[in-house]
Amino acid sequence: MEKTAFSPSNEGASQSGKALIVEPEKCKGCSVCELICSSFHHGEYNPSKSYIKIFKNKDMCVFIPLLSVRCDLCNGEELCAKWCPEKALSFLSWPEVAKQRRQLSMGRFPTPYFGE
Ligand code: SF4
Ligand code: SF4
Repeated sequence: MEKTAFSPSNEGASQSGKALIVEPEKCKGCSVCELICSSFHHGEYNPSKSYIKIFKNKDMCVFIPLLSVRCDLCNGEELCAKWCPEKALSFLSWPEVAKQRRQLSMGRFPTPYFGE
């Protein structure tokens, strides 16, 4: 299969056959997800070391979570999704993603990966 920003690769979370689904209207840009991820992996609250990053444009009130290829689902804990106070994140299998896309037509999409 050709690798695209949305398709499974051989690394990280995507190896598990899951995609991060974002409900962008719920995200408030609080950075809790970034903090919990960096804390789990690096022992410090440092968004720059997180495997999920929030693209923020506060003027436009736009907050878009992006997922690194380094995301390993924190050993199955999926901490960012678990701790998001707005319940804006969920990791779904690709068949579940396809089902939601068909049901909703628009609005939810697998977030692209960034990084190496
Ligand atoms: S996804 Fe959730 S935890 Fe992360 S910035 Fe948005 S609201 Fe906060
Ligand atoms: S699932 Fe875990 S490793 Fe992946 S971005 Fe969320 S907190 Fe980080």
